[in-house]
Amino acid sequence: MMPTRLDRPGGDYVGEPVVELVGVRKEYPGGVVALAGVDLIIRRGEMVAIVGPSGSGKSTLLHLVGSLDRPSEGSVRIAGHEVAGLADRELSALRAQNLGFVFQSFHLAAGISALGNVADGLLYSGLPLRTRRRKAVAVLERVGLADRMTHRPHELSGGQKQRVAIARAIIGEPALLLADEPTGALDSASGETVMALLHDLNAEGTTIAVITHDNDIAAALPRQVRLRDGLIVSDSRAPTRTGTR
Ligand code: ADP
Repeated sequence: MMPTRLDRPGGDYVGEPVVELVGVRKEYPGGVVALAGVDLIIRRGEMVAIVGPSGSGKSTLLHLVGSLDRPSEGSVRIAGHEVAGLADRELSALRAQNLGFVFQSFHLAAGISALGNVADGLLYSGLPLRTRRRKAVAVLERVGLADRMTHRPHELSGGQKQRVAIARAIIGEPALLLADEPTGALDSASGETVMALLHDLNAEGTTIAVITHDNDIAAALPRQVRLRDGLIVSDSRAPTRTGTR
């Protein structure tokens, strides 16, 4: 059920681009320039940290890569689709088919079992309920929660909630898993478990971008893209492009 294992996980990536940003600017009403000209390619099979201090533009970049918003200038391509040309309905479809989201605060539906929450990750897939639930069982087993299927969010620890959220995000085998400060609400032990799970999923072929302000988390990932004042100031996989300000 997981994407195909890469020949050389952690090695040089030759996969096709999942995310392609060219000359991306984002200016908010009132004149705040949140992104001032960003070029970024994330290829299939990569695991990338987008790291930077508060206000550097991480959330703005997440919104653009997540096709939740459009750039003021420049091109954003997700899984080969240019975001600028799409209507809202098409953007939603692009998200549903290609992206999985994990948030700091889990965003699970209250009062619904872990199984139900994860199966809902396939709500717009067109698959019948029985298939959605069968896949949810498999993916909950994959994240180590075989014994928590019927638990509702308030009956789970923070780390378990985040593993449910990760299961929901990957059940549709997205081209890209976007994790926004995934350990931000967790104690350090649970946070390590969640990061270890993300590393395992990447080793099995899932392409992952982790947005974080935490340098230690970023340093443990194979690639670090550093943002400051709306620009990429360093990219550990593209040493020739150090960015200028
Ligand atoms: P980060 O996630 O790294 O903290 P953001 O992308 O949230 O950075 O913000 C980048 C800059 O854009 C900041 O100066 C912020 O105040 C500004 N900004 C973010 N969202 C908005 C908005 N909706 N309207 C106006 N300014 C915004």
